[in-house]
Amino acid sequence: MAETRETARLAGPEQTVGYTLHGNRYLNITNRCSLRCAFCPKFNDEWTVQEYQLRLDHDPALEEIVAAAGNPEDYQEIVFCGLGEPTLRLYTLLDVATRIRHRVKRIRINTDGLASFVYGRDVTPDMEGLIDALSVSLNAQNADIYNRHCRPKLPGSYGAMLDFVRRAREFIPDVTLTAIDGLSGVDISACEKIAHDLGVKFRHRVLDVVG
Ligand code: SF4
Repeated sequence: MAETRETARLAGPEQTVGYTLHGNRYLNITNRCSLRCAFCPKFNDEWTVQEYQLRLDHDPALEEIVAAAGNPEDYQEIVFCGLGEPTLRLYTLLDVATRIRHRVKRIRINTDGLASFVYGRDVTPDMEGLIDALSVSLNAQNADIYNRHCRPKLPGSYGAMLDFVRRAREFIPDVTLTAIDGLSGVDISACEKIAHDLGVKFRHRVLDVVG
């Protein structure tokens, strides 16, 4: 379920809300997802990325996320990314971005690109001026292969994700599609062509390498 402003609760102190990798600060703001990817570590009971334990027992509250960003000016990027889909907490995410915007070089969201589909409206204008970059999981060159690997909860997710990317180009300066090399049936060249045709960047990831 997407977020309402009432849903955020305090997370316990043992949870990893903020973690640092590659000079970036990552914010793990929910474990909920609109996809159920067969390759996802959490569905294989693996919640650790590098040395960080990313399982949450609550969605962390706004103040805790801001605190977890640490000194945001110290990092190359603040990245909303964890073992969950950050845009399921869109309003909290945007509130955090608003709070830290003046202190950061760059804010990125790693996303499945389904936020507008889940919220039932085009949410990409909400990100304008707050979010510098989106990394969107394309994951496959067509809906059949996408559905096989990503097992979306909502039918029509693949097309909705592409529509999100088309809209996002107008409001987010840097949009990148990603796909994972090594998943059966996934044609990386065809995925790259989709990104090229949409006029956005492309990056391929390697299976079982996260973070
Ligand atoms: S979108 Fe990411 S976190 Fe969610 S199920 Fe897929 S791989 Fe896992």
